[in-house]
Amino acid sequence: MHDLLTDEQKMILDISKQIVDQRIMPVRAELDETREYPWEIIKEIGKSDLFRLFISEEYEGMGTGIFEVCLATEELSRGDLSVATSFAASGLGLIPINIAGNDEQKKKYLPKLASGEKLAAFGLTEAEAGSDAGSLRTTAVKDGDHYILNGTKQWITNAGEADIYSVFAMTDPNKGIRGASVFIVEKGTPGFDFGKKEDKLGIRASATRELIFTDCKIPKQNLLGREGTGFITAMKTFDESRPVVGAQAVGVAQGALEEALEYSKVRKQFGAPISSFQAIQHMLADMATEVEAARALVYHAAKVIDSGGKNGSRLSAMSKLFASDMAMKVTVDAVQILGGYGYMKEYPVEKMMRDAKITQIYEGTNQIQRNIIALDMIKRGVL
Ligand SMILES: Cc1cc2nc3c(=O)[nH]c(=O)nc-3n(C[C@H](O)[C@H](O)[C@H](O)COP(=O)(O)OP(=O)(O)OC[C@H]3O[C@@H](n4cnc5c(N)ncnc54)[C@H](O)[C@@H]3O)c2cc1C
Repeated sequence: MHDLLTDEQKMILDISKQIVDQRIMPVRAELDETREYPWEIIKEIGKSDLFRLFISEEYEGMGTGIFEVCLATEELSRGDLSVATSFAASGLGLIPINIAGNDEQKKKYLPKLASGEKLAAFGLTEAEAGSDAGSLRTTAVKDGDHYILNGTKQWITNAGEADIYSVFAMTDPNKGIRGASVFIVEKGTPGFDFGKKEDKLGIRASATRELIFTDCKIPKQNLLGREGTGFITAMKTFDESRPVVGAQAVGVAQGALEEALEYSKVRKQFGAPISSFQAIQHMLADMATEVEAARALVYHAAKVIDSGGKNGSRLSAMSKLFASDMAMKVTVDAVQILGGYGYMKEYPVEKMMRDAKITQIYEGTNQIQRNIIALDMIKRGVL
């Protein structure tokens, strides 16, 4: 599929590949072990202008689209999903500003996010509000020219590392999802603290922490859009970000497939490379076909989102669902092809398998994606 890309799109892939080969591959196992946030690589991504892909030209971005974001994310994920998640999570955190911010807010925040000088994060999930994102307990109470935030967000990617947070809170708890609003909160605001870095199965170097708000006073100018529109902004954000999770899944699966293919050509048993056994050949053929099919769906969903097509929400959910289920299967198969070595940290496929799992969980679990697809289909018919 990469043959069909324009020169500019191929350049985005090339830049990302250079970062993967030169900066990510040599340290990814160590990052997984130490859980150190990959700041050096993130700075390199900033210097390479890849954060500009999320932002329009008016605010110092490249004015491209989600399709181009997917290309960069896919390639970074082939190298390491912790790095790619940290990159994509900054995009996730700034999309609400793209969608609901006014000109003043965009001018204030987007240029520094475009250059990678600052990172963003997206604060929606709470202990009692996971899949049921409408059950937020965090409150934002209007107090003159300010809002006072109280509550705790759970499992927020880039928390502690990012400077700019899109935070969802109830401005009118009696109105359910229509009472939710979204605010920009800057790191360093009094009353805004972080929990400890979570110790995770995969994407271990990425930062996952709580956001803790205790009488945190923010200016009323930090409200994005109107009061009560937070839930709609969150759903519009996910429409744009889910193909990017799909791209993460395609990238990690591609990485595992490449490792499995190389290993199968050099590993000999019964006097022959294991790639000469039809059972292994068929596994590799299925893996390659599945990766390519997922890539096609992710690219299609991203293109429809970029063009504002009416089936964007459904395709976005489909691309995340299909690609992440595929990535889980392909990475497990890669471990199988490497046999015992697949289970050892000496080879990267066990890490890829651990990393891939998160793509089935965050930004809405795959059960939730199926709910979205089915409900949309019942309402509007098949595509
Ligand atoms: C590493 C990591 C990073 C994350 N980063 C962020 C972030 O940056 N920002 C953010 O806001 N959140 C983030 N999250 C939170 C993530 O989006 C949630 O974990 C996810 O939406 C699921 O919520 P939950 O974990 O509470 O699961 P639950 O909602 O408790 O679900 C538990 C199980 O029940 C199933 N289930 C629930 N409801 C239904 C239903 N109606 N129908 C069928 N099945 C259902 C789920 O699919 C799941 O299998 C992150 C999570 C992790 C683990």
